[in-house]
Amino acid sequence: MTAALDPPSRQWGVSYFGVRNPQHFQRDLDDIARLGFTYIVFTFSENDHRFYQSSVADCVRLTQERGLQAYVDPWGVGGMFGGEAFTERGAWDIEGQQRRSDGRPLPLLCPNSDEAKTYLVRWIDTVATVLQADAIFWDEPHFYLPFGEARAQGLWACCCTRCIERFASAYGKPFPCTETSDVRHTKQAAIADFLGDMTTVAGKKGLRNIVCLLTDPDTLDDLESKWEPYAAMAHIDVLAADPYPLFYGRDIATTQVFCEALQRLGKRYGKATQMWVQGFRVPQDAAPLLGQEMRLMAACGARDIAMWSYLATAYMSSHACAQPDQVWEVFTQTMAELSG
Ligand SMILES: [Zn+2]
Repeated sequence: MTAALDPPSRQWGVSYFGVRNPQHFQRDLDDIARLGFTYIVFTFSENDHRFYQSSVADCVRLTQERGLQAYVDPWGVGGMFGGEAFTERGAWDIEGQQRRSDGRPLPLLCPNSDEAKTYLVRWIDTVATVLQADAIFWDEPHFYLPFGEARAQGLWACCCTRCIERFASAYGKPFPCTETSDVRHTKQAAIADFLGDMTTVAGKKGLRNIVCLLTDPDTLDDLESKWEPYAAMAHIDVLAADPYPLFYGRDIATTQVFCEALQRLGKRYGKATQMWVQGFRVPQDAAPLLGQEMRLMAACGARDIAMWSYLATAYMSSHACAQPDQVWEVFTQTMAELSG
């Protein structure tokens, strides 16, 4: 008779940013540990990489001493990852910049460039050797995301010479002026190759890798096929999704589509999965919906659920929830209920 494998223990995560003073962090860590969280995702922007290495290293050490895991997020690095932090490298490394469809160079690094890889390898080395974190949380890797006027005009990137050559070698036809599905596929492949390279570098330095993909807000089709290349990568350990139905104006029930896609891939490729709950810009009276979403995630088999961010982002005015105290209470109470 074969003994049934125990399900993985429940994991609860929260992201953390803004405070770089380990003494102040200690108070927040006490609170986070008391509530039952098992890991913290620290943002580690280019600015942090330049000015706060030892400070964040202290926060990581305190976290690990407390028995929690510490993950690190390349927040806004190169303008190629999620996060509100600005990129300096995108402005300085002009040879590595993305180029927009109207010809304008953008202050963002192109994932196909050597400049992006060179900087990220340095960043990974710091995370492994100075911060000594447990894992990297690869946060929504992406090309330029147009918004406002640029979005209305249909502008897109990247049209740099590297991307044009990559398209030509994949399709053997002229580079189009509009972002066709062939262009989108080439971009997805470029990001997957970039992440494949970077997670290999990180994995060889003893770091685990978690990848959270930015999904097309307009369509939930093909989620599984978008994640599959990452699920198949040797050095990717955890597949993560942040459906954020309130942010994208979808029904809470749509989170099930994300959960099920990840669960299937996780089983097929032997990877863990992680689901994120929106703890920023949550509108008035919407907090109970998040509890509903967490129960839905758990019912779909999710054993690892996290919130962006600590205290429901109350301290970041542009992203604060209408009622952050309620959002945080719903999350932590639902945590206790699901853990019990
Ligand atoms: Zn490019």
